[in-house]
Amino acid sequence: MLNPHQAAVKQLEKVARLLRDKYDDQKQFDRAINKLKQPDRVLTTELIIKTKMGNKHFRAFRAQHDDARGPYKGGIRFHQRVTEAEVKALSTWMTWKCAVTGIPYGGSKGGIIVNPKELTAIELQSLARAYARWLGDNIGPWMDVPAPDVNTNGQIMAWMVDEWQKAKIEKYGTLEENALATFTGKPLALGGSAGREEATGLGGVHILEKLAEKQGWRRKQDVTIAIQGFGNVGYWFAYHADKLGYKVVAVSDSRGGVYLARGLDPMKTLKCKQRTGRVTECHCTSDGCHLNAGQVISNEELLKLDVDVLVPAALENVITEKNAADIKAKFIIEMANGPTTPAADEILVDNQVTVIPDILSNAGGVTVSYFEWVQNLAGYYWPYDEVLAKLKPLMENAFEQMWQIKTEHQVPAREATYMSAVKKVVDALILRGRV
Ligand code: NAD
Repeated sequence: MLNPHQAAVKQLEKVARLLRDKYDDQKQFDRAINKLKQPDRVLTTELIIKTKMGNKHFRAFRAQHDDARGPYKGGIRFHQRVTEAEVKALSTWMTWKCAVTGIPYGGSKGGIIVNPKELTAIELQSLARAYARWLGDNIGPWMDVPAPDVNTNGQIMAWMVDEWQKAKIEKYGTLEENALATFTGKPLALGGSAGREEATGLGGVHILEKLAEKQGWRRKQDVTIAIQGFGNVGYWFAYHADKLGYKVVAVSDSRGGVYLARGLDPMKTLKCKQRTGRVTECHCTSDGCHLNAGQVISNEELLKLDVDVLVPAALENVITEKNAADIKAKFIIEMANGPTTPAADEILVDNQVTVIPDILSNAGGVTVSYFEWVQNLAGYYWPYDEVLAKLKPLMENAFEQMWQIKTEHQVPAREATYMSAVKKVVDALILRGRV
């Protein structure tokens, strides 16, 4: 079994074989690909925080993969299963994700091996501050711009902004860099961007709209959608798809899902979930929530529903070689990161299922993070409508570029997306004369 970084390298090698012919100087191309197999640097340390019970130690990482297209950009994950290989792989995927929509960033990722549920609120804050202080001169608006990821959020970014700024002033006697523009995913009251909360789900719906255009789906009310996960991403995808007239027939959370053939109402379902704690109790259509109006289903059953579009928006590795052959949807929009295993992907390709990969489908989030950084640098904040209006063309263009490559090379959408992204990074490395 390959570790995540070995898997990322294998994927890059596969894409390189498809791209190589496009380059006159293939030796130079090979040098660029070799360079991209490893991050530029991997920083690692042991963070120590003082607690009432004595000192606690935590291993921490930051992988900076490539900055040919712009400053490194990537989240910070607090999780007990973080490994160096995982952080390296995630930093590589961030390089591709930023290239897909054309935002001017490279890729990075950070992580701390910790179960945040075992920390008190004060310990969590101390750990966040220790991490920001440790990164010090290795991050900054033109260097590397962190953001939230698994188990981190706007509050943690706010503590990091504060600590990073303090550490800089202590070290240099002055603050020469913009601390707000050093982190994204911040709360609105501290330099966050309007529209960030729904950006990932909405970006996915722009992808759905492009897919509908290519497939010639005229009657949106006939296009059925099942969504696994009803958190930030799943809810906002459901909300915007429903608003445009698509028929969302199933959603789920960790306890199971609900199926309503005539279509469910995302907003009423969310309100009901907030009240009852689970979507399985929420059989909500536009005329209200009625118990047993729909059918309670398991997460596994949701994946196998006979719908047009399946949207995994919860966890990684949910579509595997065990269930891929049973998937009836002809289109999958990957909103979660890494929901499909490589073995499952091959089965889906054989069954002619079109899979729009995560690095394209969920790129709306990092794109609005980029808008946040632009607004912080300018000190000028855009209204909500303006943020959302700017997101749309970037998602649409990214889809078009992918579709063109897919059609020209007769490759699956995942390969086409990677070809588009890797080519942009290789071209930047060549233009800079780095390889
Ligand atoms: P979230 O925590 O808000 O929601 C996760 C949802 O998944 C919840 O409804 C939860 O109940 C459900 N869930 C948990 N375990 C499950 C299980 N075993 N089976 C089915 N559902 C389960 O998280 P989110 O921000 O919506 O992120 C979802 C996915 O999208 C993750 O893979 C994340 O990495 C990815 N993603 C998120 C963003 C973003 O901006 N939030 C951006 C890019 C990618």
